[in-house]
Amino acid sequence: MDVSHLLDPLNEAQRDAVAAPPGPTLVLAGAGSGKTRVLTHRIAWLVETLDVSPLSVLAVTFTNKAAREMRGRIENILGFSLRGMWIGTFHGICHRLLRAHPQAANLPETFVILDSDDQFRLVRRALRELNVDEGYWPVRQVQWFINNHKDEGRRAHHLPDTEDSQHDTLVRIFAHYETQCQQLGLVDFSELLLRAVEMLENNDDLLCAYHQRFSHILVDEFQDTNTVQYRWLRLLAEPAKQIVAVGDDDQSIYGWRGARVENMSHFEHDFGPVKVVRLEQNYRSTGNILRAANAVIEHNTSRLGKNLWTAGSEGEKISVYAAFNEIDEGRFVIEQLQDWVGQGHRRDSAAVLYRSNAQSRVFEELLLDAGIPYRVYGGLRFFERAEIKDALAYLRLAYSHDSDPAFERIVNTPTRGVGARTLEAVRMTARVESLSLWQATVQLVQSDTLPKRARSALQNFLELITALGNQLTDLALSEQVSVIIRHSGLIDHYRKERGERAETRVENLEELVNAARRFSFDPIEHEGQDALGAFLSHAALEAGEGQAEEWEDCVQLMSLHMAKGLEFPVVFLTGLEENLFPHQRSLGESGQLEEERRLCYVGMTRAMQRLYLTWAEVRRLHGREDYTTASRFLSEIPEDLITEVRAVTAYPTLSASAAMAANPSDNIMLGTTELRLGGAVRHTKFGDGTLVKVEGQGASARVQVNFEKEGNKWLVLAYASLQPL
Ligand code: ATP
Ligand code: MG
Repeated sequence: MDVSHLLDPLNEAQRDAVAAPPGPTLVLAGAGSGKTRVLTHRIAWLVETLDVSPLSVLAVTFTNKAAREMRGRIENILGFSLRGMWIGTFHGICHRLLRAHPQAANLPETFVILDSDDQFRLVRRALRELNVDEGYWPVRQVQWFINNHKDEGRRAHHLPDTEDSQHDTLVRIFAHYETQCQQLGLVDFSELLLRAVEMLENNDDLLCAYHQRFSHILVDEFQDTNTVQYRWLRLLAEPAKQIVAVGDDDQSIYGWRGARVENMSHFEHDFGPVKVVRLEQNYRSTGNILRAANAVIEHNTSRLGKNLWTAGSEGEKISVYAAFNEIDEGRFVIEQLQDWVGQGHRRDSAAVLYRSNAQSRVFEELLLDAGIPYRVYGGLRFFERAEIKDALAYLRLAYSHDSDPAFERIVNTPTRGVGARTLEAVRMTARVESLSLWQATVQLVQSDTLPKRARSALQNFLELITALGNQLTDLALSEQVSVIIRHSGLIDHYRKERGERAETRVENLEELVNAARRFSFDPIEHEGQDALGAFLSHAALEAGEGQAEEWEDCVQLMSLHMAKGLEFPVVFLTGLEENLFPHQRSLGESGQLEEERRLCYVGMTRAMQRLYLTWAEVRRLHGREDYTTASRFLSEIPEDLITEVRAVTAYPTLSASAAMAANPSDNIMLGTTELRLGGAVRHTKFGDGTLVKVEGQGASARVQVNFEKEGNKWLVLAYASLQPL
């Protein structure tokens, strides 16, 4: 058999991994060394040379986007479609397992995925029902506590009683929340995994059937598996040990969400003897980019250590830009983007990466102004927008009346006179009688406990949802969505809001109809669900991963966490400031600081040809304005790999000096006065203040000073006679 098309595009070490004899294999290698390529070729190899059916292969990746890409690449090599093959994220695959065997999982067939927003509400409800003070027990923290334990495979009943009453309260809330979820058929993200593990552990026949079914298991981004995911992998792979895992300890960036990089060493121990393959040649980035990334990651102490090299050219130096503020940073990025696209490159060859999703807004606004199409992955996610969640809640409730989160969300949206007191009565009845909110409402409407107006408001709501449910039968999915957004009153509701925001909301609702139209329902993949149910699950699982379809050529915006595994010819790594990146929360602990550094390494190694690093001396974020200092990661890059970019037109005086000022406490010369951005100054008339902005040069240079008494003022530098303090 001719296998040259499988092995030729690989180097020696990669071939070794792809053609390894069956058995546990661990590929441990740095960024861009072809780990993902090894996985795709390995799958093609199994199918072509060992006659393994694609249906016997289980491949796990980190995002749905990565799963789609991997499927496409394997189909390209093989030349046929892989329909029916299980390739997806841990969450997606576990969801599929639960759907296929709800009984074994002890779940109702109509179970619903609870996203993190809905989970928040449910946890809050648990707090209220237990009379626990939200001020003292912030809902987010309780939510975090619950998820953290579940990611470690622990339920409330696994947690021992302690002397510590605070801890015991948390456990009590946890237990209450679990009971609620079980009663209402709700499954949060961590539960998807834990429930699937437990289902397989408790059902030998089922586990046996899956052992037979999946003869080969492959895992990408293995360094970021958490305890439950690893337990699940072991469960499925243990007897045959036909498992290939690829990963890079330097790219472990989900420690904060329970990922355990130690799983890499556990793997060698648990599956041993393991064939370990190391890949050292990087095919992605230029020499300069690679050297810079290596230099940064070398500052971490806890590493397995590897040696990455490239045969490619040195390439351009890395551009560092020190901006005045976040707007200036945004403008700089847009200018460079325009240049790049002007040279005939595709827009999607460029990515803007940031540490915090909130940073995307400025880029979005400037891109909109400049008329450059873009897409944001994560952050403002399509399926997480309020109006979309409203519409989905209507769909969900019409589809399954007992969905409490959906009920809570829309019972009074648009407003229909169901007040807080009425709702409290509904909740109370539900709690006391162990009913869903819907059932409780039916009961209340039939009794005369509530005032007449409240009763009729609830009655109207029940009728509306029932009528919607009836209208949905026999319609195509997109028509169902269309009926819902119109007849629920949502479109009218948002139209009335007026303004640009309202317009966007209405557009988004219309877009949901399109999303439903594009959604391809696959009875095999979505076993056990109908089209609407599958679409609703899809919406919950996709939330957090990009918004529209992927056909338009547009600039890619995403957080560093989302960028894992991807590559782009040009990368802008933005917001390199202390407290933002590394993130403030990480500064106390060295372990967390090292995770931030790995994140920086991930970001830098996404770049193939050109890498820009930017930071802003003043940043307004989350409604606050802060003076910043450059990120320590910038100073970890050898100077000979960097060129400092100076602004072309605007603010030449400052940017020249700011660019020099990797250390922003360096003084800058403005005219004859020695002043520092962010420094204190004195004006004879206005008193003391802080220098916040500089524009122009020479005689026309202007500065903005924030005076303690007089507020912000623009002054012409030549006449202002400001004294540095
Ligand atoms: P990451 O750690 O970022 O996930 P990775 O190790 O998975 O990276 P890949 O994405 O598989 O790396 O490969 C990086 C780039 O190098 C891709 O564009 C890939 O096509 C290319 N590549 C990998 N191996 C080879 C090879 N032997 N010859 C040519 N190009 C290669
Ligand atoms: Mg990869």
